[in-house]
Formats: sequence, C-alpha cells, structure tokens
Amino acid sequence: MVVFSTPVFTAVGPTVLHSNRYLPLCSITTTPALLAVPIIKRTCNASLVWQLIFMKLFSCFAPHSWRLVAVPSKPSGRWHTFVDSAKVRFACEACGHGWTSMKGRVTFWCAFSNNTGVVAYRLYGQQCDNCQGESYEPAMWYPEEIEKVLWNICNRVAHVFYGCARPPIQLNRRPGKPKNPHNSEKCQACKDGVCAERR
Ligand SMILES: [Zn+2]
Ligand SMILES: [Zn+2]
Repeated sequence: MVVFSTPVFTAVGPTVLHSNRYLPLCSITTTPALLAVPIIKRTCNASLVWQLIFMKLFSCFAPHSWRLVAVPSKPSGRWHTFVDSAKVRFACEACGHGWTSMKGRVTFWCAFSNNTGVVAYRLYGQQCDNCQGESYEPAMWYPEEIEKVLWNICNRVAHVFYGCARPPIQLNRRPGKPKNPHNSEKCQACKDGVCAERR
C-alpha cells in the first residue's frame, strides 16, 4: 500500500493564493458605502476610497500586510513599476470648464520585504485648454475605475511577489467618447513620460 505523505514544508504567505489562480474580482457593489459616491471629488474622500478598496483587495495577502501610499513623484530606490489607465473627469478651478479624459493615468511602485509590502501611487493631472491655466487640475476618479486599477495592481503583486498566475490586465473603461483627442501638451503624465507607455 502506498501512503502519500503530506508535504512537510510550511507554506509562507497567504493561504488564499495557494491554488495559484487569479484573485477574485471584488465587486464595487459589495461595498455599498461607495455607491453613494458617484464621482470622487478632489477635496473630500478620494484617498479614503483608494484606501478602502486597497485594504479590501490586499487583505488576501494576510498575514502579510500591504499599505498604499500616495506620493508626489517616483520614490527613490528599487521598485516594481506599473502604469495603468482609466476614464477620469477634470474641472478647472479657475474657469469652471470641465472635461473627460480616457487617459487618466496612475503609476504604481511596489516593493516587498520582511513580510511587509508597500504600493506607492501617483495620479496625474491635466491643464485646462479653455483658460490656458498653468496649473494641473487633479483628476477625479470614478470608484469603479479605482477598483479596476487596484485589482490590476493587486494581481500584479500576486504575480511578481507570490508567483501567482498572471491574469489579463483589465482594459475596460467606463464608456465615453471625449470630444477632443488627447492633448499631450496639457497632460502631466505625457510630460512625465508615462502616458505613451501603454494604451
Ligand atoms: Zn480653465
Ligand atoms: Zn498624456
């Protein structure tokens, strides 16, 4: 009689990932509080929404803890970098002009050591082409777009740091046809060289 013994190694890391499958896509509908936020205003709780969705998704790596940090520019040191895109809204502080962009950009920088992970992220603004203002207006992100890019980065982290399968990147965006083509001159992400990298 053959007796199969169980493997003796102790698994390190999240048990939920042992099946080496894709992470489940957590639905925005399971976070009812977020449904009350039709569009994320720059002044209110934008970063809170990012944090809430991040914590929910990245809890799958427990007992390893991951945190999300907003940064104004690329942090120094060695990071795994990932750029993603979304449909976002802009509103000019000076003249009130509003516009939609399918090229809302976010850059993530990820690192993991000592059972702790960090995901730094930066959002990019655009300048108003109505009043020719110099300042970059911050992008307003739809909750489902925040969830999409965080789901993508969560799966990227699972792939890079935990050896999970690499799922296809979610490319879907809220439907929309901006009236004007993307204006690189007014785009902070273009200026930073991350806009042309992907889609
Ligand atoms: Zn303006
Ligand atoms: Zn651009």
